[in-house]
Amino acid sequence: MTVDSRELLPIDRISVNAQKVVKRLVDSGFEAYVVGGCVRDLLLGKSPKDYDVATNAHPEEVRDLFRNSRLVGRRFRIVHVRFGADIVEVATFRAPHNEAETELHYSEGGMILSDNIYGNFSEDALRRDFTMNALYYQPETETLLDEVGGIEDIKARRIRLIGDPDSRFREDPVRMLRAIRFRAKLGFDIDPDTDRSLRRLGHLLADIPPARLFEETLKLFMNGHGEASFRELVEHDLFGWLFPATRHVLDAEGSTARTLITLALASTDRRVLEDKPVTPAFVLAAFLWHPFLAEMERLASLGMPPAVASHEAATNVIAGQQSIVSLPRRFSGPMREIWQLQSRLPNRQPRKAEATLRHKRFRAAYDFLVLREEAGEDLDGLGAWWTEYQESDPEARAVLAKAAGGSGRRRKRKRRRH
Ligand code: ATP
Ligand code: MG
Repeated sequence: MTVDSRELLPIDRISVNAQKVVKRLVDSGFEAYVVGGCVRDLLLGKSPKDYDVATNAHPEEVRDLFRNSRLVGRRFRIVHVRFGADIVEVATFRAPHNEAETELHYSEGGMILSDNIYGNFSEDALRRDFTMNALYYQPETETLLDEVGGIEDIKARRIRLIGDPDSRFREDPVRMLRAIRFRAKLGFDIDPDTDRSLRRLGHLLADIPPARLFEETLKLFMNGHGEASFRELVEHDLFGWLFPATRHVLDAEGSTARTLITLALASTDRRVLEDKPVTPAFVLAAFLWHPFLAEMERLASLGMPPAVASHEAATNVIAGQQSIVSLPRRFSGPMREIWQLQSRLPNRQPRKAEATLRHKRFRAAYDFLVLREEAGEDLDGLGAWWTEYQESDPEARAVLAKAAGGSGRRRKRKRRRH
């Protein structure tokens, strides 16, 4: 269906670079459209964070047309056309796989393994995930193509898989996480059929490589809608397939886990909104804090000295999590440091306090401490003490440290009860 788009999509709102790419392709005799999330976001009055172009030109042909381009990807071979820091992704129309090739391209469970069979525009539309993501726009002629009722669903604020939900989720289970992410980001409802299927098929996420789940986890939690993503993942019984150890402690009586995670994500969302730097290390530290404490307690009960138990517990929790969602060392390292500093913060003898303050992870560890208190842990005003300590001049610091000195041990013992 072709829709008159003049009111819906004023051309001047589409990125100049995406327009250039489409124009060059069309002028060279190919079909080309901007497509997917960017069209959806434009229709919703949001500014797209990136632009995708779909075309009938093959990847090599696209690369030959743009000097500033390169071929990327294996599972999906696409072309990146670069304009300074801005990249326009160009993908060739894809077709469904025919019977003869089915065996080659699907796993036994029905998952797509490779996807480089080219097709026409209509076929390409049917292979996209949600109807709202299958809109094609040609800025030159101001044509908006909608084969699957995407506009109607956007108007109804509805997330609906194209085709049969069960088989579309089986083809690529990550679509379940995408549904949750779009729900969190756009506030749309998930269509009842899609929703039913999603609540049943969470276990399929176990087949997804940890590296891909990590990428998706970042998009869920670090893009400004983390708190809503967490809530929706839990509500749709998907969270446990990503963070099983955390899921396990969420409902434990008296546990502050859920509040701690919610607060960490809310603070991250706020920072994203304010364009402040954020790190997955902090969010992961909150996700895995209670599993870490539980593991530490278990090891201590076996007679392991506290310092060793803490080190081992971090290693074990990270290893368990890695096998599901990979945690690159650049994030798991700082996460460990945030945890390890939690046991140093109660020790406020003058020299120890100064050393802790100078630690490169102090700021994150202090923020984490404050969050733990906000979540309901009783740490005897430790957060407030460190707030005052940081704001004081050296003389006042010495007085503060002296006043608190020697109390580290007593507080530590008290802490262990949590
Ligand atoms: P975002 O705002 O997060 O960028 P998006 O919809 O643009 O959202 P992308 O991951 O950038 O998401 O993908 C671009 C388009 O590619 C989607 O709109 C959709 O049409 C298609 N697509 C992406 N991932 C899948 C998938 N797993 N299955 C089917 N189609 C997909
Ligand atoms: Mg996108």
